[in-house]
Amino acid sequence: MSDQCIFCKIANGMIPSATLYEDEEFRVILDLNPAARGHALILPKEHAANIYELSEHAASEVFVLAKKMAAKMTDALHCDGFNILQNNGEVAGQTVFHFHMHLIPRYESDQVSIGWKPGETTQEELNDLVKLIRGE
Ligand code: AMP
Ligand code: ZN
Repeated sequence: MSDQCIFCKIANGMIPSATLYEDEEFRVILDLNPAARGHALILPKEHAANIYELSEHAASEVFVLAKKMAAKMTDALHCDGFNILQNNGEVAGQTVFHFHMHLIPRYESDQVSIGWKPGETTQEELNDLVKLIRGE
């Protein structure tokens, strides 16, 4: 746990939060600046700044928990859809540097915008990227 990290303090109960769920490894809290009603965050109790630092164990558990929370929240909130996302690095929109997964209930009339302008590519670029990323 990092003394400087607000999400470490929240996850470990040193700062109070609106907690929806807690177990030995995770705390799920309501976001204080919600994108939509019921916007929540899954916080691992162990500090990892981002997905690169996250242990494989936590990585494998976090999506199982996200699935359970999505089902429970959808039942309770009667939302029409659901986004699950997480940001790594400032350029990707990360503002708190303790790994967290966003659980965002979506409603027909909400004002949430998550998106990008679809780009273009070529078969050559796809082939190059496959080689590059596969390390061939
Ligand atoms: P990100 O931009 O992916 O790093 O997301 C950080 C999220 O944490 C934002 O949605 C903030 O509204 C939320 N947030 C920041 N501080 C707190 C806090 N003390 N309690 C609850 N949510 C917070
Ligand atoms: Zn932390």
